[in-house]
Amino acid sequence: MDKAKITEVFQSIQGEGLYVGVKQVFIRFFDCGMRCAYCDTPQSMDGEEGHFEEYTSDELWRKIAGLWSNCHSVSFTGGEPLIQKEFIKAFLPRLKAAWITSYLETNGTMYRELAELIEHVDIIAMDLKLPSSTKCRPCWEEHERFLIVARQKEVFTKTVITNGTTREDVLRAVELVAGIDPEIPCVLQPNYYEHDEGVMRKCLEYQIDYSNRLKNVRIIPQMHKYLKLQ
Ligand code: SF4
Repeated sequence: MDKAKITEVFQSIQGEGLYVGVKQVFIRFFDCGMRCAYCDTPQSMDGEEGHFEEYTSDELWRKIAGLWSNCHSVSFTGGEPLIQKEFIKAFLPRLKAAWITSYLETNGTMYRELAELIEHVDIIAMDLKLPSSTKCRPCWEEHERFLIVARQKEVFTKTVITNGTTREDVLRAVELVAGIDPEIPCVLQPNYYEHDEGVMRKCLEYQIDYSNRLKNVRIIPQMHKYLKLQ
């Protein structure tokens, strides 16, 4: 793939997960194979708000250079970046050659694509999606295979908790991670659009379930939303 479909390239701070607060250049890739009920990036999806520009590798490199200013890393986000695996696979070595850290934010389902480029990725922020939260099809098997590949590198999982999240799904997610490596950090992320007592209470309850089997479990909200950043 000579060109990538990219919705936006911008500099901001990371708003989610273990690296919250670090300055990054974000490349938001267009398109995603899922349709999570709580998705906050309709601009990167096929639909009314969806849009993209096409970038060659050189154009993207110049764009990153113009935004860089001592960032921590470059985030490949979306949408689902791994849909454009060929482009990313060819692009990642450029970052490596320049000693720039690559950070992949992914829905955690495209394990074959990950396996093809994992050698060039530094950090993986993997969604572990609960069907009772997403209202989409279950992805347990894909998630398990993905996490097995991802743990070759630094990886943490991120799970959105909504009012609809069931404990049954939570316990299955816990077993999935614990069966691979109980040291993998896990983040519970309260759904920003339902930030009421109910969701927070669920996060606190589920943190106990997670902590029964896993060593590093944190509740971290989407900080960029509170700070009104991109
Ligand atoms: S996987 Fe991410 S980008 Fe895709 S629909 Fe779900 S929340 Fe949105």
